[in-house]
Amino acid sequence: MIEHNFKKKFGQNFLTDKNLLDAIVRDGGVTKEDEVLEIGAGAGALTESLSRYAKKVVSYEIDKDLENTLKSLELNNVEFIFDDALKQDINVIEGHFSGRYKLIANLPYYITTPLIFKFLEEASRISSMTIMVQKEVAERIVANKGNKDYGILSIMIAFYGKPRIMRNVGRNMFRPVPNVDSAIVRIDIDENKFVGIDRKSFSRFIKAAFAMRRKTLLNNLSQLYDKKILQEKLNEETLKKRAEQFDINEFVEIFNRLN
Ligand code: SAM
Repeated sequence: MIEHNFKKKFGQNFLTDKNLLDAIVRDGGVTKEDEVLEIGAGAGALTESLSRYAKKVVSYEIDKDLENTLKSLELNNVEFIFDDALKQDINVIEGHFSGRYKLIANLPYYITTPLIFKFLEEASRISSMTIMVQKEVAERIVANKGNKDYGILSIMIAFYGKPRIMRNVGRNMFRPVPNVDSAIVRIDIDENKFVGIDRKSFSRFIKAAFAMRRKTLLNNLSQLYDKKILQEKLNEETLKKRAEQFDINEFVEIFNRLN
C-alpha cells in the first residue's frame, strides 16, 4: 500500500484486490473500443485495471496529494485531472471524449446521489455508469414499485435507463475499512426511452410527488399545480394514491397529462 494520509473528508477507502478490480471493469463491459471516465482515482488501483481494458481513460481526482503517486504509474492511455468532478462543467468533461463514453467509479459515498443526478440530468453522451455504492443505496436504485426501498432515486434512474446490481463487495475489501458494505451497480442509459420530456421538469415533478411519503398524490402535487387542474386532468382514484404506488410508465403518463 502507498504512503498516504487517508482523507475521510474525501471518502478515501481504497481497493487493492486485483481480481476484484478487474471484475469491476468487466462488470462495466469495458473493451478496447471504449473511452472511460473514472471519478476518484485514489491511488490508481482501478485506473490501472481500466487502462489495460480500455482504449482511453480520463480520471478525475480531487486530492492533489495523490498527483505524484498517480503520475508515477506511467499509464500511457490515461489522462489525470486534479479537480472536483462534481463542480466540473459537463461540457468540459464530455469534451475529453470523441464519442460515447462509460463512467466507472469507486465513488466516495457522500457524492453518490449528486453525481448520479448530475450525469443523468446533464450528460448527453454517457452510455453507462458502473459505480460502487453503499449496499442500501444499491437496493434503492434497483427497487420496484411496492418495495419499501422504492423512491425518487429508483424512479429517476428507471426514467433514464436500466439498473442492475452486478456484485456485492464486503467492507473488508477496502483500506481503511469503512463501516458499511457496498455493491457494484451498473446503469445502462437508454437515450430513447422517454424522448421529448424535459428532464429538469420531470425531476421536479417526481420530487414533489414524493415530498411527503404518506400523503396522497393530490396533496403532494398541489405544491406544483393548482388543485383544480389536478382534479380536471387526473381521475379520483389516481389522486387518492401515494407516489410509491406508481411505476415509471404510470408517472410518465401522469406527467404528460399535466404538461
Ligand atoms: N478508485 C480508488 C480505488 O478504488 O481504490 C479510490 C476510491 S475512493 C472510495 C474515492 C476517491 O475519490 C478518493 O481518492 C477521493 O479523494 C476522490 N474524490 C472525492 N470527491 C471527489 C470529487 N468531487 N471529484 C473527484 N474525486 C473525488
